[in-house]
Amino acid sequence: MVVTRFAPSPTGPLHLGHAYSALTAEALARGAGGTFLLRIEDIDRSRARPEWEEQIYDDLHWLGIAWPVPVMRQSDRLQSYSEALQSLWDKGLLYPCHCSRRDIADALSAPQDGVVPAFGPDGPVYPGTCRPHAPLNGAMPLNLPLRLDMARAIRGIDLVFSEIGCGPDGQSGTITYDASHMIAEIGDVVLARRDMGTSYHLSVVCDDAAQQVTDVVRGQDLFEATAIHVLLQRLLGLKTPLYHHHRLIRDADGKRLAKRDDARAIAAYRNEGATPADIRRMVGL
Ligand code: GLU
Repeated sequence: MVVTRFAPSPTGPLHLGHAYSALTAEALARGAGGTFLLRIEDIDRSRARPEWEEQIYDDLHWLGIAWPVPVMRQSDRLQSYSEALQSLWDKGLLYPCHCSRRDIADALSAPQDGVVPAFGPDGPVYPGTCRPHAPLNGAMPLNLPLRLDMARAIRGIDLVFSEIGCGPDGQSGTITYDASHMIAEIGDVVLARRDMGTSYHLSVVCDDAAQQVTDVVRGQDLFEATAIHVLLQRLLGLKTPLYHHHRLIRDADGKRLAKRDDARAIAAYRNEGATPADIRRMVGL
């Protein structure tokens, strides 16, 4: 059975890009006689607000979308994330990182034989300052950021997934990444953020598996992160869903809509008298 999901973070209003994602995921499930799920990605406690969560429910209902309740909320799932981290720690794939953003920027700006540091899905590829020479053992540290030792993690893994939609450069079909791409272009990503005990990458992988999501529908801005997600699925023994990355909804100047573009919020259009059909038209559905 097809299971899709829409997984917004309640950190601001939903905008047209969210409407497109949610409507596309819902239509895919409905067309296949499957299930569409809503998940609230609220691990960033400093930014998530109950009023934004309420607005998400309200906007989606108004758009004509329904979902089974209760919805999964990431803030209720910290135990699962900590178990996943523990299993990666036990494999010797994680290490604590003490670097500040400033430390990383300084390390990257030091000349390194003319090598230009790559920019990965989470920003500049980590220069490896805190990476240990041998896998760490002992108790997993709490309340410190934990990074994945990419070179160790990718060893012996064939990274492959099926893209049903399209990546930002037209990627579709069977997508593969080799170890050198993962090490040089993505690097040692943070899997547990300070004071959070998890990260977007870890949570999304654990939750898609727990909800038995078969088809992940989301914007092309997350295409590059998919390599990290597939790697985590392999390391944690989880199934890899099909991925449907879709075009981004841009403003009249061709710029991506961001959460802070409140003028493009669904709520703002609603207040101006737009109908759900108008929203569908605006996003090209
Ligand atoms: N929570 C993410 C966001 O709001 C989406 C996660 C995903 O679809 O994988 O951008």
